[in-house]
Amino acid sequence: MKKRLLILLAIVLLGSIGLWKLSRSRTYQVFGELYPRINTTEKVVALTFDDGPTPRTDSILTLLRDLDIKATFFVIGRDLVTYATEAPKILAAGHQLGNHTYSHERMVLKSYSFVKEEIEKTDSLIRKAGFQAEIVFRPPYGKRLFALPYYLKQTGRKTIMWDVEPESFSEIATDSAKITKHVLANTKPGSIILLHIMYDGKESIKAIPPIVRELKSRGFTFKTVTELLRYQLSQ
Ligand SMILES: [Zn+2]
Repeated sequence: MKKRLLILLAIVLLGSIGLWKLSRSRTYQVFGELYPRINTTEKVVALTFDDGPTPRTDSILTLLRDLDIKATFFVIGRDLVTYATEAPKILAAGHQLGNHTYSHERMVLKSYSFVKEEIEKTDSLIRKAGFQAEIVFRPPYGKRLFALPYYLKQTGRKTIMWDVEPESFSEIATDSAKITKHVLANTKPGSIILLHIMYDGKESIKAIPPIVRELKSRGFTFKTVTELLRYQLSQ
């Protein structure tokens, strides 16, 4: 009897570890289209920013204009409401908006109706800001399990992850030179770079000019996520 209980506990434990790993996998989800990067040999890359918009938008847009690149902003519905003037500016500057949920909660162990509301509310705010093209999705903290991917697949939405994330290493995140070095060492054709610069991330902002200049000098072109998706080769 005791042995059976132990086996059962082991199964539950292994199952939980498996689900936890699955919820944070960058390259696999149960349902729907997932892109951690684009499979291509062309020197194209996407710079993506998560969260916001915030009143920092103006200075970020100036920086991107000076560097002459387009980027993709995965915005939060709640922030779109608070700072309603910012998203239209992002669009007017030619950048892309993506959906990063309404309240930025971890989308695991959430009900179907919660997931649906988080996504739909944010999509309508993105539409209200004036974005007319396909809206791609990125889960907060990269987390998702069943309900979220199921809803995304049902509604034909693409999940956009990333393959270059310098800020995920604490020893790198606090130093713009290290961020730059990490990005330059890890960016490949079709890479999706993730930075957080809307709330804080001053070191990440400082890293953007050297990253862009060096990648351009290596022959890379910066694309929005939707432009980048067009380069996807069939696997
Ligand atoms: Zn986020």
